[in-house]
Amino acid sequence: MDEIQFQLLTDLHRPATRQGPGGETETRQAMRLAGLDRSRRLKIADIGCGTGASTILLAKELDAEITAVDFLPEFLDELQTRARDHGVAERITTLSCSMDALPFSDGEFDVIWSEGAVYNMGFEAGVAAWNRFLKPGGKLIVSEITWLSATRPPELQSHWDGEYPEIDVASAKIGILEQHGYCPEAYFYLPTHCWTENYYRPMQSRFDAFLERHSQSDQAKGIVEAEKHEIALYEKYRDYYSYGVYIARKI
Ligand code: SAH
Repeated sequence: MDEIQFQLLTDLHRPATRQGPGGETETRQAMRLAGLDRSRRLKIADIGCGTGASTILLAKELDAEITAVDFLPEFLDELQTRARDHGVAERITTLSCSMDALPFSDGEFDVIWSEGAVYNMGFEAGVAAWNRFLKPGGKLIVSEITWLSATRPPELQSHWDGEYPEIDVASAKIGILEQHGYCPEAYFYLPTHCWTENYYRPMQSRFDAFLERHSQSDQAKGIVEAEKHEIALYEKYRDYYSYGVYIARKI
């Protein structure tokens, strides 16, 4: 991807509440399955936080001090504005840093949270690298694109082989967690509305303004076409894949 494409993608996604599939109900469900509540103060890292959909909910629901990490400062600026609007800004520190070069100490966090982002460094590399930042007994909550069945149509397989060859079934992802020092505690996958109502519909409603802002440039049109292709593929094949949400405890 070149610099202009990258800036265009940032511009398309920055106004959004979320930059990937997800939902407040599902983030709450993950909190509950991980046994997180207000009974004690928690130190949390939210990695690949985007504009903070999960960060802000965690800050509101828990007694937590949260480090929100993303490599895009534009998203973190937006997150800070939203955190102020929700009255939780003082509990959130932002850190602009790549998720594969985090400056954290061993055993610093009670919780590592990451929704729709670990694929950027790869699931296995991510969960392996982040393990040491957790306290023993600390919780990892990570969502990852996941096959919902053992077989799938060739068109879909070849799309994801190109986009993200690490896509796999939940049992394989759970095995990876076990191999890297975690006890898997729970798994569920995001229901359709997390993709459609929460992510794709709001994105589709921004396409026209986005194209206008960029004077209908070929590159802006290319971005919109790629997103439309992804949406069409999801609508056709949504029974075969979703984001799996994995909850695991550091051994
Ligand atoms: N968790 C958010 C955002 C998911 S989109 C949500 O659910 O809405 C993935 C996010 O990862 C984007 O915000 C993107 O800027 C960020 N990202 C991509 N590569 C990254 C990297 N190498 N290091 C840190 N963040 C990265």
